[in-house]
Amino acid sequence: MARYTGAVCRLCRREGIKIYLKGDRCYSDKCALERKSYPPGEKAQTRRKMTEYGLQLREKQRARRIYGILERQFRRYFDIAERQKGITGENLLRLLERRLDNVVYRLGFAASRAEARQLVRHVHFRVNGRRVDIPSYLVRIGDVIAVAERSKELPRFVELAEAAAHKTPPPWLEVDFERMQGRVLGFPAREDIDVPIKEHLIVELYSR
Ligand code: SF4
Repeated sequence: MARYTGAVCRLCRREGIKIYLKGDRCYSDKCALERKSYPPGEKAQTRRKMTEYGLQLREKQRARRIYGILERQFRRYFDIAERQKGITGENLLRLLERRLDNVVYRLGFAASRAEARQLVRHVHFRVNGRRVDIPSYLVRIGDVIAVAERSKELPRFVELAEAAAHKTPPPWLEVDFERMQGRVLGFPAREDIDVPIKEHLIVELYSR
């Protein structure tokens, strides 16, 4: 399945929630969802009753879009989550949160997960001092994620660091704006993951 290349704001309108795919624009009154809070398409404003399957599918698509993951990879995360101890849905969200692109975004070194993914691919980050250009890299407890030395002076990073200084990272991450780096203190508990996902619906969908 190919990566979605259409207008990303349509995805937010389809899901009915802000997925924050356009960085700073998402926080402004230019946000498309603020202006058109109904789903895209001709019959968008016709209300349809969703089946149980439809609800489960919608929830899975929503999670995929928030984290920017293709179906096959998402399914792979689910299979790993299922094999882990604990609650499968929470394990799934925890795996998604541990992706390097998500961590970069959570630390405030990118305005969206999409931007984080691109910055990681362009080798602007180091993990424990090593070059890592794989957005799906899963961070571990104690990992130090730093902006590469040669990238620190880039205008985008200066701008991001200034903006990030006003944000608070989630409790499982620690950030040092002076040194432009962050550290993984632990794995997130469910209450630390602020995505509007009912993960039990995804588990139900894949358990059919
Ligand atoms: Fe979604 Fe951002 Fe577009 Fe608003 S501006 S609809 S939050 S991608």
